[in-house]
Formats: sequence, structure tokens, C-alpha cells
Amino acid sequence: MTPTVREVQAKSVLSKSKIYPWVVNPYTGCEHACTYCYARFMKRFSSHPEPWGEFVDVKVNAPSLLRAEVRKKRRATVWVSGVCDPYQPLEAHYRLTRQCLEILVENRWPVVVQTRSPLVLRDLDILRDARDVEVGLSITTADDSIRELFEPCAPPIAERIRALDELHRAGVRTYAMIAPVLPGAEGLADLLRGKVDYVLLDRMNYHYADRVYREHGLEDALTAEFYYRATQDLRSL
Ligand code: SF4
Repeated sequence: MTPTVREVQAKSVLSKSKIYPWVVNPYTGCEHACTYCYARFMKRFSSHPEPWGEFVDVKVNAPSLLRAEVRKKRRATVWVSGVCDPYQPLEAHYRLTRQCLEILVENRWPVVVQTRSPLVLRDLDILRDARDVEVGLSITTADDSIRELFEPCAPPIAERIRALDELHRAGVRTYAMIAPVLPGAEGLADLLRGKVDYVLLDRMNYHYADRVYREHGLEDALTAEFYYRATQDLRSL
């Protein structure tokens, strides 16, 4: 699916966040269009009639804004990104995340990158030399047929594992964000061993993807019992 893409001028790009002190979102909207995406509330802040996943606003002035904002704001950890994937396919062309990363690293701001895409490897040259950077790959299941049901437009699981492996071997601190824990997540413990410094886990605790669970007879995977069973090995990892 080709999204509607608009180039926009943002007013600010370094925003306060409840997860880390700051967050940078170079895009509004996300081509990955995960069925459960918690960030779909962002549609309200756009003028797009298209559903979530079918539009992206590209903040083409994000690097110049960030360069000015890092001079004025208090230095603390920046999350890249919170409500879009910073390495969604458009980033290969626009390179906004790369430019923002360069600015943050040059100015010694700690950075936590979070993505579902191996495109992050393009920026290994910056990540490897940075003093305070960690990179997380969001991986919700080890079963790529389940991934196709819930994250049809996001990169395959094997590519994300390969990205973690390569980053970790290059000396970058890495983590896996397994949230929401989907059916097949129990297979991730073996795949992640030796490739991450830590793992973050959370269960499906919102309802956007209920239809997908119902249509495929996966309702059991919404229970607390499933969550504790599926994450047993991961918690020991
Ligand atoms: S990659 Fe993240 S922001 Fe993008 S659609 Fe999926 S959950 Fe939402």
C-alpha cells in the first residue's frame, strides 16, 4: 500500500515524553500500519482523512529545528521515536532520522532508538561511535505468519533479529521490545540469546487488534495465563 505523503514544516521536534524525558518523531504517521498500533491517536493531530498507516507527514525541517532546540533545552535522554517508526521505508529517502541522530550524538545527548526495521543498520557508523546510545528492535513474535496478521507492512522477524545481532556484535547496547506479546513470542528466547543486553515485555493491554484475534481464533492469547506462559523463558533470559 502506498501512503499519502505530505512534506510539512513542524513548529518543534524535541518534545517532552512520559517514557523518556524527550522524544523526537521526524514523521507523523507510520507506514508499518501495525493493527494494534497504540499511536493511531496521532491521526487526530493530522488533517488526513486516510486511516492510520495510509498517510505520513514528513517533517522536512526536523533537523534544523532540532539543531536549534538542543541548544536551548536541558540535555537528557531522547527517545527516537515514540509515535512513528523512525526507520519506516520513507526514511531511506528522507534521511531525517539519520540527521537527527547525528545532531543528538554530536551534542552528546543520550539516545534510545526504537524501530521494527533493519534500515537502522544504515546508521551503524553513527551508532557504533556514539557514547550513550542504545537501540531496540520491537519484535512481538517469533512466528512470521503471526507477524503477517498483526504487522503486515513491517519487516519480517528474521530481519529484525539479524539487525539486533549485527548491532550487538558492533558493540552497540541493544534491547528487544516484546510488546505486545503476540502468539509465538515464546520462541523468541532462543532467537534473542546473545544478541541483546535486555528485554522489555508487556502484554496486549489495548483493544485495537481485537478483530484480528477473533478472526483467527486467537482469543486465548489475550489472557493473563497466555502472557505468563509465553514469557516464562523470556523472563529468565
Ligand atoms: S511501527 Fe510502531 S508506530 Fe508504526 S504502526 Fe507499528 S506500532 Fe505503530
